[in-house]
Amino acid sequence: MTDTNTQQFTFKAETKQLLQILIHSLYKDREVFLRELLSNASDAINRLRFEMLTNQNVLDPDVELKIHVTVDKDNRTIVVQDTGIGMTQDELVDHLGTIAQSSARKFLETAKEKNQDASGLIGQFGVGFYSVFMVAEWVRVTSRSFRPDAQAVTWFATGDDTYQISPAEMSERGTRIEIKLKEDAAEFAEEYRLKNIVNKHSDYIGFPIYVGEDEKPVNKQSSLWRTARNEITPEQYKDFYRQTTLDFEDPLMHVHMVTDAPVQLYALLFFPAKSERNMFSLRKEDGLKLYSRNILIDEYNKDLLPEYLRFVQGVVDSEDLPLNVSRETVQSSGLMPKLKKVITNQVIKELETLAKKDAEKYAAFWSEFGVYLKQGIAATPADTDTITPLLRFKTNTNPETWSSLDEYVSRMKDGQKVIYYIVGEDPKAVLRSPHLDAFQANGTEVLLLTEPMDSFMLMSLRKFKDYELKSISGAEADGTEQPKAESEAEKIPEGDFNSLVEKFKQVLGERVTDVRASSRLVTSVARLVDADENSNPELQRVYKYLGKEYEVPKKVLELNPAHAMLKSLLKTDGELQTIIIEQVFDSALLVEGLHPDPSSMAARVQQIMEAALKGQK
Ligand code: ADP
Repeated sequence: MTDTNTQQFTFKAETKQLLQILIHSLYKDREVFLRELLSNASDAINRLRFEMLTNQNVLDPDVELKIHVTVDKDNRTIVVQDTGIGMTQDELVDHLGTIAQSSARKFLETAKEKNQDASGLIGQFGVGFYSVFMVAEWVRVTSRSFRPDAQAVTWFATGDDTYQISPAEMSERGTRIEIKLKEDAAEFAEEYRLKNIVNKHSDYIGFPIYVGEDEKPVNKQSSLWRTARNEITPEQYKDFYRQTTLDFEDPLMHVHMVTDAPVQLYALLFFPAKSERNMFSLRKEDGLKLYSRNILIDEYNKDLLPEYLRFVQGVVDSEDLPLNVSRETVQSSGLMPKLKKVITNQVIKELETLAKKDAEKYAAFWSEFGVYLKQGIAATPADTDTITPLLRFKTNTNPETWSSLDEYVSRMKDGQKVIYYIVGEDPKAVLRSPHLDAFQANGTEVLLLTEPMDSFMLMSLRKFKDYELKSISGAEADGTEQPKAESEAEKIPEGDFNSLVEKFKQVLGERVTDVRASSRLVTSVARLVDADENSNPELQRVYKYLGKEYEVPKKVLELNPAHAMLKSLLKTDGELQTIIIEQVFDSALLVEGLHPDPSSMAARVQQIMEAALKGQK
C-alpha cells in the first residue's frame, strides 16, 4: 500500500484515545456509524450548495447532489460516497486527524470524567466520523475538493496511532468512504440492513440516498420541518431536538408552524426544559438556524425572535428569502421583520394556550423562563401588552401557586381600585414584612415581587388594564385606600406615645427623617417607609442591583401604637431602652433588606438577651 508519495501522520493524543474507546466499545447500537457518515455527507453537500450561491467556479457544477451507499457482501466492504464539497489534503489532515468537533470532544471528556463505560455515551453524543471504527477493520477516505485545481487525496487508517495520506485518482467531486468491516460486524454487509438503518436514522436528510443499484432513493428526503405534522412522531421531534442541541433533557414543548401568508415559512421551534445550556450543548450562542429553501444560511440568527424569547431553539426555513444573498443582506432584507412578527406571535400564542391547557407545564416553563419575559418588559416597553398576560406571580394569599394578573383582578375585593405589590429580597422574608400586616389581617391580596428582575420590570409595568400597580411599602399619605389595622382600642395614650417618639428621635437622630405612628401595623412593632411619597423604591433597588453608587434615601420610622412591646418599652429606661430602640430600627432595616451590616447586631442582641434573662430571676 505504501509508495513513495505516501506520508505517514500520527493522530493527535485525544483522537487516539477516542479511537481506542470506539474500537473496544461494547456499544450495541453500532449501526449509528452510518447515521454519522450520512450526516457528514449531507453537511458536505449543504456546504457545497452554499458555496455555489456565490461561486461559479466549482468542479462538476451540474452533477447530481446525492449520497450513494454500496455493499460488497463477500469482501465485507461498504462504500459511502457523496457529491459534496470534498476535502483537500490539508483539510483531510485537519478534519480527520484531530477532533475539531465539539460533540466528540465532549464525549471524550465525559467518558474520562465519569470513568464509566463509554458505550452508553456514544449514542447520546454522536462521535461523528470516528464512530466508524466501532465496525471497521480499516477505513479509506478518498476526496476531491470542489476547487477545480485541487488534487484528489486518500486518507487511510486502521485505528492504530497513525494514518497515511497519499495522492489519489478520483475524477468526480466529493468524498468516498470505504469501510472494511470487522468480522463481528458482518451483519452490516447486507443491503436490506443498510436500508433499514437509513430509514430509521436518516430519513429526513435533504438529499437522495441511494443504496445499491436501486434507482429510487430510500430516504424521504424532506427535512423534518418541511414534513407534515401528522407524519411525525413525538419521538422524532425529540430526536431532532437532541441532535441539534445535544440537550439530553426532552424539550418542554415544540412549535411546528407552516404558513404561506403574509410570508412563506416553515419553523420548528423548541422550548428547552432548562434555561441554562448544559455543558455539552452544541449551541454556543442564542439564535435560530435560518435556512433559505433548505440551505443553511445562518447558524445563529438573532433577528427572528425578540430578545426575551432568545431561549427558543430551532429552525426557520423560508422560500421567500432570496437565495443569492450574503448573510449580511439577509439581515437587512425587509423580509426579516415580517418573519419575526409571524414567529413571535405564534410563540406567544402557543404559550398562552399552554397556560390555559396545562397549568403545571406552564408553571415549569415560568420557573425557568419567567425572568426572560420580565426582562422583556423592562427592555422593550412597547411589548408590555403582549407579555403581560404571560406573567405569573406568587401572592400573600396564594403563596404556593402562580397567579396571572387576570386571576388577581378576578379575586379583588369590592371597591379595590389598584393592584398591590410588595418588593422584597426573598419569598419567605417578604411574607414577614410589616408592610403586609394590615393586608394579611383583612385578606387583601398582594403580589410578592422577590426577584431582582422584578424591580426592572416595574419600571415599565405601571398598569394592568384599568388598574394601577401600587407598592404597599409607601407612606400612609399616599392617597390610596390601603387597609388599616383595627385594634384602635389598645393604643398607647397619645401623651405617652409622643414621649416615646421623642426618645426614638433622640436615639436615632439623623438616621431617620421622622418617627411617627402608623395605623397599618398589626403584629409588627415598626416599619420603614419612604419620606417622600413620590419616591420610587423600585428605582432604589434597580440602582442597588446595577451596583451604582446610590445612597438609599433616609426613611420614616413608623411605630405601632398598639404594640405590647412598645408599652413595655415605655416603662423601661436607661441603657436598655436605648439599645432596644436601636434594635427596633435595625430589625426594620433588616426586613426591608436594607441593612448594610447585619452581623453588627449580634453584640447588641446578646445584651438584650442578658437583660431578659436577668429580668426572669
Ligand atoms: P462533525 O461532522 O461533527 O464536524 P466529524 O468527526 O464527523 O465531525 O467530521 C469532522 C470533519 O470532517 C467535518 O466537520 C468535515 O469538515 C469533515 N468531513 C467529514 N466527512 C466529510 C465529507 N463526507 N465530506 C466533506 N467533509 C467531511
